Amino acid sequence: MIPPENVEDVAVRTASALKLPASVKSEMFVRAYANQQDIRIEIQTFDLEDYDVDGWCVRLGERTYIIFYRANQGHLTFSKRQRREWVKWHEIGHIVLGHLTKVGDTSRMFDPDAPQEQAANEFADAMMAYTRGTLRHDEYDEDHMTFRDARGW
Ligand SMILES: [Zn+2]
Repeated sequence: MIPPENVEDVAVRTASALKLPASVKSEMFVRAYANQQDIRIEIQTFDLEDYDVDGWCVRLGERTYIIFYRANQGHLTFSKRQRREWVKWHEIGHIVLGHLTKVGDTSRMFDPDAPQEQAANEFADAMMAYTRGTLRHDEYDEDHMTFRDARGW
């Protein structure tokens, strides 16, 4: 498991290594990441009204994962789209950060205060910042694992 203090570095380094544009959306990232890692990641919606989470993920096999996120009802406002994207990044974080260590593991097994949840939150925050273009991957310094002008990091 990735130590929580390195989450932001891991998030940006992973996106940078995939050579994706700073405008990358979570689903494009998933396709590129799965291809690079030679794993399979499916993304599916669910629409259970009274479910207690907006998303979760499951390790279905040694190299197979599935991410579920809540299907929005009605008009998809900007903030709803942002929230949905954040949820997907959070679940992607659980996979990239190695939280699902064995087949059958699910992100639902973590207590909200667990270090894995905090790390996935940090991953999602970092990727939301990265993909809003506030951070540009071509400014990322591989050797020092930081941005050259260290904006916001
Ligand atoms: Zn989580």
